[in-house]
Amino acid sequence: MVKGIAVSPGIAIGPAYLYARVSFDVEKRSIDSKLLKNELVRFEDAVRRSERDLKKIISITREKLGENSVTIFEAQMLMLRDQSLYPEVVSCIENSRVNAGFAVQSVMTKHRRMMEASGSEYLRERANDLLDIQDRIIRHLRRGRILSSVDENSIVASENLTAADIILFSRRGILGCVTDFGGPTSHVSIMARALHVPAIVSTHGITNEVKSGDILILDGITGEVIVNPDEETLAHYVNKRERYSRLVQEDKALVPLPAETLDGHHVGLQANLELREELVQLAEYGAEGIGLYRTEMALLMEGRALVTETEQFSQYLEVVQAASPAATTFRILDLGGDKMLPMGNREHNPFLGWRGIRIMLDKMELLVPQLRAMLRASAFGPVRILLPMVSSIREVRSFRAIMDKTMEELAAEGVAFDPKVPMGVMVEVPSVALAADQFARETDFFSIGTNDLTQYVLAVDRGNDLVAHLYDEMHPAVLQLIQMTTKAAKAAGIPVSLCGELATNMRAIPVLLGLGVETFSASPIYLPGMKRVIRAMKLSEGQALAKKALIASDPAEFRAVMDKWLEEHACGVSFFLDGKHSA
Ligand code: PEP
Ligand code: MG
Repeated sequence: MVKGIAVSPGIAIGPAYLYARVSFDVEKRSIDSKLLKNELVRFEDAVRRSERDLKKIISITREKLGENSVTIFEAQMLMLRDQSLYPEVVSCIENSRVNAGFAVQSVMTKHRRMMEASGSEYLRERANDLLDIQDRIIRHLRRGRILSSVDENSIVASENLTAADIILFSRRGILGCVTDFGGPTSHVSIMARALHVPAIVSTHGITNEVKSGDILILDGITGEVIVNPDEETLAHYVNKRERYSRLVQEDKALVPLPAETLDGHHVGLQANLELREELVQLAEYGAEGIGLYRTEMALLMEGRALVTETEQFSQYLEVVQAASPAATTFRILDLGGDKMLPMGNREHNPFLGWRGIRIMLDKMELLVPQLRAMLRASAFGPVRILLPMVSSIREVRSFRAIMDKTMEELAAEGVAFDPKVPMGVMVEVPSVALAADQFARETDFFSIGTNDLTQYVLAVDRGNDLVAHLYDEMHPAVLQLIQMTTKAAKAAGIPVSLCGELATNMRAIPVLLGLGVETFSASPIYLPGMKRVIRAMKLSEGQALAKKALIASDPAEFRAVMDKWLEEHACGVSFFLDGKHSA
């Protein structure tokens, strides 16, 4: 058994196809000065052919997934003639008098290494795009054929895959894919989810464990890959696959239905997003707007530290228009902690250090353009602005003052915006929950971030395997803080939502509603499954379960209570409790 990160849910069973991405190693050749012109023509010709490939990939993507999904490839198209790449290859050919293939390889490798070394997940992903482009151009220089071809109905195992690979594979009806590297926000993961192809990434060695033709079970719910299973295991997974696909069908039917408890209490279900490519999922999974738009990804582009106000505005505009008439909640850049810091600072305790709003209030050159871009987007649809990592009311006041001043400036410039844009805080540092009354008087909404709240309440680093067993999002202390927050919000008449991973935990949903949470925001694929639990419960049941949860001294005992409740009420879900399920 090999374990990785499940990034696209579902169960696949079938033969493995070991796919090796071909990266050519091009030898250096000197080019006679009389033939340099010819070499430049060859390079331009290969770029043109690559553009033609990408156009084809874009048209397949558009047809299969719609307009919003093509941006990944449009970005690659732009990279082909990028201001810092194309001219550098040309001057490398001219000045070093080398063959086009070698020039492409050396220039692109240099840029790629810089991106890979940046420590930023986003730039590493761009590095992957660059490799794809490099391979494409070199293949055309050699007049090679496109090699994204695999056996039909197979499970593709590969070191790494690109978004283009998976688009082309999907035409061969692949059953699933599994890679050695990659992360949940990599383009392959996004594409796999969009195409409903079960996928697992970051196995660190699947390609060493399997050969083409081996039978694989890929469990995109738990992240497990089983190689050449015995009869009994196979039968278990065939059954799981069937039950899962039934659940998905049922969940699909839930998409147009309201998220309402049996006693008529409406629950808001919104989306957590971070990339424009994910916007298609809003309608697909029935999200009522965006409860959390993380801006870390969108702000880092193509080797430059941060994108400009204009570029941010055009991205935010697209997001607002896709979510409208429902609201988009943009979160101010949450750098620091485990997220990359372009300023390159090193801290002993990054999670207790310079992070989120702390950085932004110190760095007006980051905050003001972002805030202006968000406010400008608010002229085109409802926008809310959310502050990360707030711990003191002073931060809220400082931000409010900057927002007022920014609004005055925009008004003076004659730029349109919504002057009533709500400003809310993430409740993710315990001080905010404990003083929620005070915060509720000076903010327009709360969004409870249980991922961080849990780590700060329990003093357990959310990314440290050594203490992972202590990370308990349903610890009574965490639940008490959630309740204090919802009570304060209710008393002040402001909305409160919960946007941490806990929202997708089937065992937690009844309890959280019982504690007074009104709205959940989660990755869209989980929304139908969450709705299933909501529609199977009464609010009064949630309140009774919450009472028990608040005094539960043994987590295992309380889990058993919830499992029993789910088994009796939300039939079908309990089978998938050990991993999240979704359509
Ligand atoms: C959280 O802390 O719960 C949250 C939603 O924010 P992030 O995971 O981006 O820190
Ligand atoms: Mg957080």
